Amino acid sequence: MKTRTAAIITALKDRYPDAVCALHAAKDYELMIAVRLSAQCTDARVNQITPALFNAYPTLESIANASITDIEQYIRSCGFFRQKAKDIVLACQMLLSDYGGRVPDTMEALLKLPGVGRKTANLLLGDLYSVPGSVVCDTHCIRICSRLGLSQGKDPEKVERQLRAVLPPEESSDFCHRIVLFGRDVCTARSPKCTACPLQAYCTDYLSKSSASAGSL
Ligand code: SF4
Repeated sequence: MKTRTAAIITALKDRYPDAVCALHAAKDYELMIAVRLSAQCTDARVNQITPALFNAYPTLESIANASITDIEQYIRSCGFFRQKAKDIVLACQMLLSDYGGRVPDTMEALLKLPGVGRKTANLLLGDLYSVPGSVVCDTHCIRICSRLGLSQGKDPEKVERQLRAVLPPEESSDFCHRIVLFGRDVCTARSPKCTACPLQAYCTDYLSKSSASAGSL
């Protein structure tokens, strides 16, 4: 498993040298907000709406003091906007009241912020603080790692634990960013491009389907 995982990591690095987060944010709290907005929404859509939001509210204090209704007007197109606006304002208030105006650097503290779950917390730990072992278990990660045979099931917490057991801790955050890129252009949900896939030789799903179809000839 270790050799196979290492080969997958290398192939992904070759294909996507830059393991960057697809969400645009210049400040730590802006990244927290962008990740919150990305739930049930595409990163592209979030990147379309955040410039106007961050222009109108250029500081943490200005968002913390904004009315939730005003924030809603900027984020309506990204779904669940009422709950997201509420979480954003309350989380920014908590950053100021409890964390000295900074996004905290521990899982325990991050999970206390409104709207922040393990996926968001892991992304913030990996991107802001380079914490080893940060595994961002989103829909791409769960689907692709299952196909590759690196994890089983769809429960994000279980998949996170399984991946933490097989990924080198210093690689895990970048691995998850690359998996998102890979999931968008190769291993898509509905029609994965298996014949052109650089991970074909390590993919248990592809190999089992290939041997099944060979056996039925
Ligand atoms: S071979 Fe197909 S299913 Fe397997 S990782 Fe590549 S694109 Fe995804």
